Amino acid sequence: MEGMYSLDSKIFFLEDEAATQNLAAAFAIALSRYCTTEGLGPGMQWHLMGDLGAGKTTFARAFLGACGYVGRVNSPTYTLCEPYSVVINAQPLVVYHFDLYRLIHEQEWEEAGFRDYFSQGALCLVEWPQRVSLPRPDLNLRLVHQGLARELHIDAWTSAGQKLLMLLQ
Ligand code: ADP
Ligand code: MG
Repeated sequence: MEGMYSLDSKIFFLEDEAATQNLAAAFAIALSRYCTTEGLGPGMQWHLMGDLGAGKTTFARAFLGACGYVGRVNSPTYTLCEPYSVVINAQPLVVYHFDLYRLIHEQEWEEAGFRDYFSQGALCLVEWPQRVSLPRPDLNLRLVHQGLARELHIDAWTSAGQKLLMLLQ
């Protein structure tokens, strides 16, 4: 049985949207540090949790920008998933950005083949992961409203997530 407690956790206070964007950029740096010593293996998944308007898409957009993606990052509200190609340490990396808020039947997810995206060496960022059954993520990021600011609660559930979290500065 999986443990009740994550391997590591951190909490950040995010004063405003810029603070969230800066932290997302720090995640991009941590990922590139991680990739200098470790490959992503079958892939990594980070879950983005929190109410509507908590800042999940803001985080994903800033993260992709910091990974060098120059195009627009729209919320995949209707498509459920958008793929992005980025380059980390001269290595190509596919980032899949999911938003499963509108997913009603898990069958739709299975039929689209989305489950396979989690074993192809990609990084999956998943908003509303609770809509489907997924294994524990490497990192769980939970954004909580604190008045106009946010708090970000991070939990690492795998040793990969734990290493990445240690590289976050
Ligand atoms: P979600 O994807 O969680 O539904 P969005 O990222 O689409 O949320 O929207 C977050 C909204 O909250 C944006 O309008 C953003 O400007 C605002 N906001 C205010 N403070 C913050 C913060 N600290 N971090 C992220 N977004 C913030
Ligand atoms: Mg969103």
